[in-house]
Amino acid sequence: MDYTLSPEIEDLRQRIRAFVDTHILPLETQPEAYDQGENIHPDHLEPLRRRARQAGLWALQMPVERGGQGLPIVGMAACYEEMNRSIFGPVVFNGAAPDDGNMMVLEKVGTPAQKARWLQPIIDGQVRSAFVMTEPAPGSGSDPAGMMRTEATRVGDRWRINGHKWFITGAGVAEHFILVARTSDDPRKGLTAFLFHRDDPGWEILRRIPILGPEEHGGHCELHFEGLEIPDENRLMEVGDGLKLTQIRLGTARLTHCMRWLGLAKRSLEIAASYVADRRAFGSTLAQHEGVQWMLGEAAMEIHVGRLLTMHAAWKLDQGDFARKEVSMAKVAVADTLHKAVDTAIQLCGAHGYSRDTVLEWIYRYARQARLVDGASEVHKMVLSRYLLNEGMEFWSWN
Ligand SMILES: Cc1cc2nc3c(=O)[nH]c(=O)nc-3n(C[C@H](O)[C@H](O)[C@H](O)COP(=O)(O)OP(=O)(O)OC[C@H]3O[C@@H](n4cnc5c(N)ncnc54)[C@H](O)[C@@H]3O)c2cc1C
Repeated sequence: MDYTLSPEIEDLRQRIRAFVDTHILPLETQPEAYDQGENIHPDHLEPLRRRARQAGLWALQMPVERGGQGLPIVGMAACYEEMNRSIFGPVVFNGAAPDDGNMMVLEKVGTPAQKARWLQPIIDGQVRSAFVMTEPAPGSGSDPAGMMRTEATRVGDRWRINGHKWFITGAGVAEHFILVARTSDDPRKGLTAFLFHRDDPGWEILRRIPILGPEEHGGHCELHFEGLEIPDENRLMEVGDGLKLTQIRLGTARLTHCMRWLGLAKRSLEIAASYVADRRAFGSTLAQHEGVQWMLGEAAMEIHVGRLLTMHAAWKLDQGDFARKEVSMAKVAVADTLHKAVDTAIQLCGAHGYSRDTVLEWIYRYARQARLVDGASEVHKMVLSRYLLNEGMEFWSWN
């Protein structure tokens, strides 16, 4: 692997960095820039999105002919990290979850007609989207194939949906939904994915679930389905391919989480480094104390390890590999790294770090979801152990 960025990717990275510096970071200190979920307020977001688009920094993950920048995943790794130097960053560039993952999977598996109707408006920033899979107990969480209870029953050329979902990010503002439901009892081919629109009758949002951290726009919602009818033309892939679609989506979507989390981790150390450089105690700056140096050095090293894991997985995905192991390793490690970095930063900033005068406390509360979303860390470790037991020493193969 060569880690050198191409001149085009490096140029984009630099321009995103400058955009974040100039237009986004200043908003973080303005209370009116926050909405009810502690994310960027739509009044501030929309002008910034227009500006990012004009600057050619829009939808890096999408093909040029659809209005994106056509970046390889390695390029996204470098640029997404820069976007999330600000807590408000990714959504400004149309690189935030869940739209990011939804766009990528629709681009990969949608028919031309499905892409025109369901994907293009998300790329154009006209609508937001949601991915509807997880269910409250006794339905499916970590084990969707085995435990999904929401059913899609075929009635002529339509599917009737009944069931219960929760923790659906963005559902409060989404118009385009990707739904995974059970269509048979087959252990591998029992799930199927569908598209539906917010205005279709037969479903409702029961509540926006209160959570520990700040929210994506539209929150995390609990949904009830009773008789939602979906025409067969809005089925994604073949009947029984729901689990496959989920894996296609999550492969890259999990990795873009890592890219963004690394941005937040770096920002945390940036804030801490600036504080310890000035703040004095016991006759010197904090930065001159060896104990402080060890804390900063260790967190910086872990961020670098996370970046290497993420870049390696990105490179493998660019080669057409599913990179299942590599993505799982990056996801587990970077989720922990984000915790480590922001916790270290708060500690080093003392009471200032615990205050709301910096974004550290925002990042700290946000970070807790990283070990849960898109598969709990324990489940990724289970998958890794299966690979090890199957592959033996080949687990670490270079090829
Ligand atoms: C902020 C946030 C946003 C989310 N957004 C979405 C979304 O947009 N769409 C969507 O469909 N879902 C979403 N989810 C749901 C998320 O994908 C699930 O939380 C995750 O898959 C785990 O499922 P669960 O919560 O049901 O945990 P459970 O399956 O109940 O598991 C609970 C815990 O048990 C442990 N565990 C489970 N299996 C194993 C095992 N095999 N070995 C060891 N330990 C194990 C893990 O520690 C796990 O955390 C979101 C969740 C959060 C927190």
